[in-house]
Amino acid sequence: MEYEAIIGMEVHAQLSTKSKMFCGCRAEIVDRAPNSLVCPVCLGMPGVLPTINRKAIEYSFMTALALECEVREGRLWFDRKNYFYPDLPKSYQISMHSSVVGRDGHLLIELNGTRKEIGIADVHVEEDTARLYHRDDGGDRYTLVDFNRSGVPLIEIVSRPDMRSPEEAKRYLQELRKLLRYLDVSTGDMEAGSFRCEANISLRPKGIETLGNRVEIKNMNTFQAVEHALKSEIERQAAILEAGDKVVQQTVGWREELGRTEPQRVKEEAHDYRYFPEPDLPPFVVTRGWLEELHSRLPELPGARRDRFMSEYELPFYDAYLLTEDPALADYFEECARLYPRAKALSNWMTGELFRLLNVSGEEIGAVKVKPGQLAELLTMIDEGRINISTAKTVFEEMFGTGRSAKEIIAESDLVQISDAEELSDIVAQVLSENPEAIADYLAGKTQVLRFLVGQVMKATRGKANPQMVQGLLKDRLKATEGE
Ligand code: ZN
Ligand code: MN
Repeated sequence: MEYEAIIGMEVHAQLSTKSKMFCGCRAEIVDRAPNSLVCPVCLGMPGVLPTINRKAIEYSFMTALALECEVREGRLWFDRKNYFYPDLPKSYQISMHSSVVGRDGHLLIELNGTRKEIGIADVHVEEDTARLYHRDDGGDRYTLVDFNRSGVPLIEIVSRPDMRSPEEAKRYLQELRKLLRYLDVSTGDMEAGSFRCEANISLRPKGIETLGNRVEIKNMNTFQAVEHALKSEIERQAAILEAGDKVVQQTVGWREELGRTEPQRVKEEAHDYRYFPEPDLPPFVVTRGWLEELHSRLPELPGARRDRFMSEYELPFYDAYLLTEDPALADYFEECARLYPRAKALSNWMTGELFRLLNVSGEEIGAVKVKPGQLAELLTMIDEGRINISTAKTVFEEMFGTGRSAKEIIAESDLVQISDAEELSDIVAQVLSENPEAIADYLAGKTQVLRFLVGQVMKATRGKANPQMVQGLLKDRLKATEGE
C-alpha cells in the first residue's frame, strides 16, 4: 500500500527584544549564569503584576503581516494556559488562545522548482518557561531548574498540515526562519534554542481523505534532525499500518544518536488547559492606523529581494536564491556590487570561494574579515589581468584569514601575474621544445593536448602566467609549426 504523509509544524521562536515579555529582566540569555536574569515577576512570586512588552507585540504583528495573515484588529488579550510542571513556577503560562495576533496566513516554499503555499493557522505571542536539567549522579536523580528563560517572549507559529514530505517540512522551516531574520525579529538560532520546532505527522493510504492518528515529534534541534525524524516516523507508522494495526496518538522524542523516535512521558494527561483571560493584564487595542504604519515599515522580504536580484543584477534564479538566503549575505553582495558591477562574476565568486571558506571555517557572513571593497578590488585585479584566477583563490584565502587587502598580499609575495608577451614567449618556446610528442599529437588533430601544454607553462611560472595569453601564444606557435 502507498501512504501519504500529512505533516504540520509548530514553531516557537524567541523574539529579539532587549527585555522579557512581562518584566524588565534582560532577555538575552545566551551564555549567562543560571538564574542570573530573574525577578519576582518571572519567578512567579505571589502578588506581582506583569506588564506587556510593546516591542514583542510589534514584532509579532510584523511577522503576522509578513505571513499575510488576517491580523487581529480591535481588542486583544492574553489568556492563562494552566498546567502543572516544574518549569512553570506560576502553574500557568501567559499565552494567547481565544484572541491571537494573526490567522489564516501562508508561506510560499520552493522545492525542486515547484512552488507551494503552506497555510499558517495561527500566530500568537506567549512567555517561555524555565529550562530543566535532568541529572543522574550514580543513582541519585534530580532536576535543576534555570529560570533565565522564564518569561522570554516567544512567537508561536502554527502551520496547517499542508506538508507532504520531510523535505517540504524542512524547507518550510528554512523559509520561515529566513523570514524572521529578514524581519529582524528573531535570530532563528536553533542551537541556542531561539527557534524550536515540533512536528505532527500522520499517514493515510493515498487517495483517502480521512486523517489517521497523529503523532507529535519533539526534540529536533537541527533542520537535518527534522528531516531524519520525519523519515523515521513515516517508516514506523507505515509498518504499523501495514501490519493492520492502529497508530497510537502520542508524543515522541527524536533520538538523533539512535536514529529513531521514542515515546515521551507526557506532561499532563488532560489536554484541558482551562484557558481563561489573564486577569492581571488589561486587554489592549490594535488600531488600523498602527497596523498600516507597521505594514509600511516592513522590509523587503526574501522572495521580493530574490526577484529583484534576478531583474536588477540579471542573475539566474539559483544565484539569486542562494545570495538572498540570509539578509546579511544579500547586503554583502549588494555592497560589493556597487563597487564591482559585473554581478555574475561577483556571484560566482561569492557562491564558490566565499561559501567554501565560510563552510570550512564555520563563520557567519557577519564575521567575515574581507570588506566588500576588498573583494571588489580583488575581482577588479583579475579582470585587469594583474593576477590569474588560481592566484586570486590563494590570495582570497589569505584575505579571509587575515583581513588584509589583495594589493598588500600580492606585493609582498611576488604573485603578480606574468602578462608580458616577451617573457611568456620564451617560456612557451622552452615548454614546446621539451614536449615534441605533444606537438606531434596536436598536429595529428588531438587538440586537447593544448590544455596539457598550458598546464606545463603554468607550472614553469609557478602559476603566475596569464593563462589566456599562454593559450594564445601556444596556438600561434603550433600553427607556425604546422606551416613548416
Ligand atoms: Zn523578570
Ligand atoms: Mn506554545
